[in-house]
Amino acid sequence: MANLRIVILGPPGAGKGTYASRLTVKLGVPHISTGDMVREEIKRQTDLGKRIKEYSDKGALVPDEIIIELLAERLRKPDCSGGFILDGFPRTISQARALEGIAEIDLVINLDVPDEIIVTRLSNRLICRRCGAIYNLLTLKPKRDGICDKCGGTLYRREDDRPEVIRERLDVYRRQTAPLIEYYRGKGLLRSVRCDDIMTPPDVIVEEIIRIINEERRPSSS
Ligand code: AMP
Repeated sequence: MANLRIVILGPPGAGKGTYASRLTVKLGVPHISTGDMVREEIKRQTDLGKRIKEYSDKGALVPDEIIIELLAERLRKPDCSGGFILDGFPRTISQARALEGIAEIDLVINLDVPDEIIVTRLSNRLICRRCGAIYNLLTLKPKRDGICDKCGGTLYRREDDRPEVIRERLDVYRRQTAPLIEYYRGKGLLRSVRCDDIMTPPDVIVEEIIRIINEERRPSSS
């Protein structure tokens, strides 16, 4: 694998953002989170932000054509030339097909996480309003209550991390995103990482992902 064009796939709360934000430092390629891009548009109250807020707040997917355009624009930036880590995209088969017209993908890491862990994680998740760093009241607590360790920003609970919205997001994941597992398996790009203990430190999973990447990068002997 000459390039590092990676997709991190998994249900909401699987740890995609947490692992991708660590992988970006270790691998030196940008972490591209379409969820962060959506939240940024909403925060800046752009015209687009106003249109997509209603989807995001209720846990629905933003329409494909909007998110594909946002992503395509981001991937055209020069920092993506050596690769990227996609977090939260693609979320539908049609997004995966559109991605094929924009960039090649070398590897898809599927985070395989049981529902109980997801619900517990999302109900305890806090995000930094300033830098987007992710915390968890059970497993990744900030040093000072409500304050980001990295930038001192205030921490908040995402609008879509309320219990009724979590249920909807899981449902959307099962119906629209989970079929991508078979889609990418069929293309020979999928590697799964099982995470079934909520107390496993993020770095353990990150190391496992790096091991898989290195394995895939080794030239095959056959
Ligand atoms: P995330 O932070 O990845 O959980 O994304 C938060 C919200 O942003 C989702 O619930 C969707 O409303 C929207 N979103 C993020 N990525 C996508 C995508 N690839 N397709 C459609 N909607 C998305």
